[in-house]
Amino acid sequence: MTLRTNILTALALAALGLAGCQEPQKQTPKMVVADHATTLEDLALRLGLRIEERDAGFVVLKNAANTVLIFTHPDGRFFVNGQPIGPVGEIKKEGNTFHVPASLVEQIREHLRSAAPPVVRRKPTKSKALVVLDAGHGGQDPGTSSATGTQEKHINLAVALKVADLLEQAGVAVIMTRQHDRFIDLEARADLANRRKTDLFVSIHADWAPNRSVQGFTIYVARAASADARRAAQAISQTMAATGCDTRGIREADFKVLVLTNCPAVLVELGYLSHVQEAARLRDPAWQNRLAQAIAAGILAYVR
Ligand SMILES: [Zn+2]
Repeated sequence: MTLRTNILTALALAALGLAGCQEPQKQTPKMVVADHATTLEDLALRLGLRIEERDAGFVVLKNAANTVLIFTHPDGRFFVNGQPIGPVGEIKKEGNTFHVPASLVEQIREHLRSAAPPVVRRKPTKSKALVVLDAGHGGQDPGTSSATGTQEKHINLAVALKVADLLEQAGVAVIMTRQHDRFIDLEARADLANRRKTDLFVSIHADWAPNRSVQGFTIYVARAASADARRAAQAISQTMAATGCDTRGIREADFKVLVLTNCPAVLVELGYLSHVQEAARLRDPAWQNRLAQAIAAGILAYVR
């Protein structure tokens, strides 16, 4: 209530101060941005927020857990969840594009609530290990999709839920970054693992390539991955190869969830949605089960 009132009051103040100078919304022109500045669109993207509302004098950014209000007039201030935080700093307006200091990203991030409340599915009494399972994408971010319109986010979640069941049956504690079709920003996903003693972070995705003949699974680790992360990747790669699925091996890429997590982290690309047969197989619950069993077996081999 208080939060909502604060925002409404702030919005009312902004409207009052700026009546008469509102402009119609236009497409944001592309332009070169100075090193130290970022556009509001980019700031929102980096924080996992969407632009909910904008006016000549303010912008409201939101995700499931946060509301950020930024006043875009000179000496404008910004608010996170109804709390005044500080001045925005130098704001430059070019057309309908606002440039704000890039440092604002971190200043806002500090005050954001995690969009993903930790979900401990079940706590095995004699837990052997804690694994954070991350079903890639979700909500407004569908990931990639097949020619027939199958969205990656659904495949990722279906397989991740199956892996979670199997791990729990084996006595491993599991936290999922999402259990539903919802948007969770990448920092919040990593944060779930970083806030506790996590043995392994496994992100599950499906791939896409312009060349439609490319197929098979790929396991990624960060370029600076630890020996443990590489061992986990090796273990999962072996059990997945045993399904008969083509393997594209273990590769290095600095995906955000891999570099932001402090624990060993791997990212599994289940296969290619751009490949017609593989996309059909990825939709098949029986094949999803086989992949989940293979991933779970690999994880168990690693944590034991
Ligand atoms: Zn993905």
